[in-house]
Amino acid sequence: MRKLNIFRAGKLAVAVTALLALAGGFVGVSAAAASQPQSAVTGETYVIGTDTTFAPFEYRENGELTGIDMDLIRDIAANQGFTVEIKSLGFDAALQALQSNQVDGVIAGMSITDERKLVFDFSEPYFDSGVQMAVAEDNTEIIGYSDLAGETVVAKRGSEGETFANSIKDEYDFTVKALADSATMYDDVKAGNSVAVFDDYPVLAYGINQNNGLKSVTEKEQGSSYGFAVNKGQNPELLAAFNAGLAELKDSGEYQAILDTYLEQPAPAAASGFFGLLGDSLPALMKGLGLTLLATGLSILIALVLGVLFGFFKVSESRVLRGLASGYVSIFRGTPLLVQAFFFYFGLPQLTGQSIDVLTAGVLTLSLNAGAYMTEIVRGGIQSVDPGQTEAGRSLGLGYVTTMRRVVLPQAVKIMTPSFINQFVMTLKDTSLLAVIGFAELTYQGQQIYASNFRTGETLLIVAALYFIVINLLTMLSNKLDKRFNK
Ligand code: GLN
Repeated sequence: MRKLNIFRAGKLAVAVTALLALAGGFVGVSAAAASQPQSAVTGETYVIGTDTTFAPFEYRENGELTGIDMDLIRDIAANQGFTVEIKSLGFDAALQALQSNQVDGVIAGMSITDERKLVFDFSEPYFDSGVQMAVAEDNTEIIGYSDLAGETVVAKRGSEGETFANSIKDEYDFTVKALADSATMYDDVKAGNSVAVFDDYPVLAYGINQNNGLKSVTEKEQGSSYGFAVNKGQNPELLAAFNAGLAELKDSGEYQAILDTYLEQPAPAAASGFFGLLGDSLPALMKGLGLTLLATGLSILIALVLGVLFGFFKVSESRVLRGLASGYVSIFRGTPLLVQAFFFYFGLPQLTGQSIDVLTAGVLTLSLNAGAYMTEIVRGGIQSVDPGQTEAGRSLGLGYVTTMRRVVLPQAVKIMTPSFINQFVMTLKDTSLLAVIGFAELTYQGQQIYASNFRTGETLLIVAALYFIVINLLTMLSNKLDKRFNK
């Protein structure tokens, strides 16, 4: 799969062209679909999407992705001579990423269902599962579906559990709410926001054994088996290699050994104190913080360029340029950032056939968004300088450019700086929204951590404290610079 990388300017141009088409509706784009090599899998690298946490199938241990699915795909890859790059995206996001060709395959305890077979091709089944209901450990009221009347239950977005809950909700008169990952679902039940969760029984059983605060009260439902999925009609060689590798692992007994390793219930991990959690999670969080700052820095730089450019367009005498700038600003201020992020990461590849990496999509989203606000800051700054100043400059015989540079801008920049700092802080915080497209920044790292240790509150406190410290340090620094240069 060809990847769009931020550092490869040529390909970025494709994305920008597409963006212009979106913004103005006057540029047609017909990027050719990336061609898929049809050779054998040997030596190939495939990008595989998976769930955030679905222990014992995928979860993190000391920051490393592990579990039945992870061992299977890695061992099959080794057996068949290809390499895998695993992306922990969340279940629904992984399926979306597959559909928009952001990943080549998905292994995520994914049930083989007739509905999904319409859009995906599945491998041979590798595990039999089924949906089950669980409630909070101390809940004595709910012991069957008929106790759910008038209540709210939770299930994972896009999962078989959600489909099952929806199929019986009218009969038992309850409401189904969907969340993205297992950890938040379980928290929702423990917090009492939902009375029960519908999830796959091996996963519930594993969590309950790890003291996740839940218990199961009903029998498991007859469910489907798990399979490895690729897009319909695409990557047949990868699917064939998966099946061949799976067969070999079964023959050699390795498949059974993997199951035994993870299904033989481990003793619940002893809870470390707050500082234990801090120490364990800090390395991953710092990595996330680095990416947060990288995305913020790149986005702010590009946004600054966009803001100055379109800001000048806005105060220019040309109606066309003013119209262009207004169009840009209204599109990016008039749509939610989250929708823009989804669009650039999932939508654009579908429209252009060109896949885009998550950092590029994230920076594109944030910079275009922040650029729109910067445009308004620049416009406001220039316009807030008394027109008399321009007139005075012009009457002294200075040209437009010189008047701008020597008279207007020095005053305008002083006015704009606090707003720039404000925008910078907002963009830094907005990077957290990129967690939904799987960008491994700070919030994403936090989610990965509580998804496996179930200590949501404490982990979020640490994450929030890191944002707080960094943002306040940077604000202090910016204010100092502002004072120094804008006296
Ligand atoms: N087996 C379920 C499904 O495919 C849930 C998978 C998951 O949550 N990772 O819908």
